[in-house]
Amino acid sequence: MARVGLNARNDVFFPEEDFRLIQEARIETLKILSLTDISVCERIRRENPSIEFIVRLWDKGFGLGKHPTPQEFVERVAPRIQAFRPYAEKFEIHNEPNHFHRIEGWGSSDEQARDFRNWYLEVLRRLKELFPWAKFGFPGLAINYPHRDLEWLEICRDAVEESDWLGCHCYWQYENHLSPEWGLRFKLYHELFPNKPIEITEFGDSTPDISPEEMARKYVEYYQELYKYPYVNSACAFIASSPDLAWAPFAWRTEEGVFRPVVQAVALMPRRPPALYFEETGFSVGRPFLDLLDKLGLEICGLPISEEVEEEGVRVQYFQKVLMVRLPSGEAALGNAGELLLRAKEELEELKASLEGPAPVLEPIIEDISAKLLKHPSERYPRRELSAIKYLVVHHSAIPPDRGPEVIARYHVEKQGWPGIGYHYFIDPQGKIYQTNPLEVISYHARAYNSSGVGICLAGNFTDSIPPMAQISALGHLCAFLLEKLGLDKSAIVGHQELVPTVCPGGRWKEWKSLVLKAVDEAPRQGFKPLYHYMLFWQKGEEWASEEWEAAKNYVAKFRPTCGFSVKEALQARYVTIVGSEDKVGEEAEELLRRSGCKVERLSYADIASLQKLFDDMVTKGKRFLSLV
Ligand SMILES: [Zn+2]
Repeated sequence: MARVGLNARNDVFFPEEDFRLIQEARIETLKILSLTDISVCERIRRENPSIEFIVRLWDKGFGLGKHPTPQEFVERVAPRIQAFRPYAEKFEIHNEPNHFHRIEGWGSSDEQARDFRNWYLEVLRRLKELFPWAKFGFPGLAINYPHRDLEWLEICRDAVEESDWLGCHCYWQYENHLSPEWGLRFKLYHELFPNKPIEITEFGDSTPDISPEEMARKYVEYYQELYKYPYVNSACAFIASSPDLAWAPFAWRTEEGVFRPVVQAVALMPRRPPALYFEETGFSVGRPFLDLLDKLGLEICGLPISEEVEEEGVRVQYFQKVLMVRLPSGEAALGNAGELLLRAKEELEELKASLEGPAPVLEPIIEDISAKLLKHPSERYPRRELSAIKYLVVHHSAIPPDRGPEVIARYHVEKQGWPGIGYHYFIDPQGKIYQTNPLEVISYHARAYNSSGVGICLAGNFTDSIPPMAQISALGHLCAFLLEKLGLDKSAIVGHQELVPTVCPGGRWKEWKSLVLKAVDEAPRQGFKPLYHYMLFWQKGEEWASEEWEAAKNYVAKFRPTCGFSVKEALQARYVTIVGSEDKVGEEAEELLRRSGCKVERLSYADIASLQKLFDDMVTKGKRFLSLV
């Protein structure tokens, strides 16, 4: 936002009145020449701690049509730049080189513009090398005919682009202070260089015999107008005072020390408007976001692309490059735009997926042991097309749950004389799934329905009881996956007893079938992960990770992950930290999480003390993950 600026006296030391004038007019940016003594800056900064200095690099070697070489110029200004370092960051390289009368070295022709461009680029290169901390500006040009500033800018385009900012002079006469040709000439410069910050290093009214009151009115109008142009950083009126009578009409005080009305008018005019309108995008930015925008600049924030709005109880405003949020303290801060964007993209994916139907069921972890199981020496099961399958038939093994598929295979082959085990799948009490026959095999498990059925056997005898939840949940997941793969709906899931007169899979099947169907609905699916980070602790029966929980306290306090004990919940997170070794949280769980797209990290530890140390270390280093992201 345009700071209220003034060109200081072109002198080494200032008379007392100038210090007072700068104070009284509440000047925010003071433009000085590099010949000014550093003690002047020291005093002004002491009296106006927030004042900004812009230093014009001035050299007496410039004169009618002559100029120092880049090397001579740099050698002479370099010690001055170094001296100004505690006070100034912005340096304007020279002044009005295009002046038609060649009073500043070059002249207005194309050829002279090209010569200046070469001179300038060499100076800029050398200065940037010497003073990487400084911001160098392309100098304000003499404007309009016959000085040809716009033509010059085109010829010097790469020189302007290389510069940190672009200087601009805006002079006018009569009521032209708001005309785009004169007072608002910087708008034409902005059109040529839309990404370059502009400093109006000189402006002034040269109307002959203008009254001091008129001058005050127009200058105030001008400063106020500039608040509409966020790319203008400062505007320095020409000039506080001058020993040279030629500039007397512009001076804010007489050499006798009388202040012109402009000093008081500028002192009293409103500063820092409550809101700023950006015509490029059509949105306004108010306080406190405007303060943050001032601080960070348009280059970092971009233009506003929304009004200030309330989202989930927080005042926010969107800019092209950042998101600003209002803190409870009332101050503005940058929001987590990156995270928000990522979330929005995922929600969009989710939305797209929901338009195309639900996301696919995640393939369960299945250990294929069908080749290893005992087979009949000569008998072979017939085979089928997968399209022949109509039923998923649930069985129980009707023997103690620790008897595995090998036992059943041996029984079916040796005692029954079958070609191999009768089932296609076998699920142990912990929910581990084994594939025992390829789906294409027509094995024996449901008589007339063998050719259209898939046999799924749960380990255990459920004549009078129902299977453990881990087993039901695995069965549900397997069925959901098979239904999708085979193009069947949930009515395909049947108990053995629903097809054939038998008690299999147990007397309470009707009761737990609904649990199986529920588990089918809740089977983990690919895609959307609404949680950011889940911390998965182990649990086994009555036992759980109580010591790990205690050790993680400080970590949880710092990073606030979602914590729990459920793999199914963990599938909802983009990042998962497993707390516990493979015997506590199995490898299958880890693989399932990875396969679903979670980024998984397992914390291994010899004992609780070393886990505690690991957590404390992560907290101290601010590391949420050891190896992820
Ligand atoms: Zn059965």
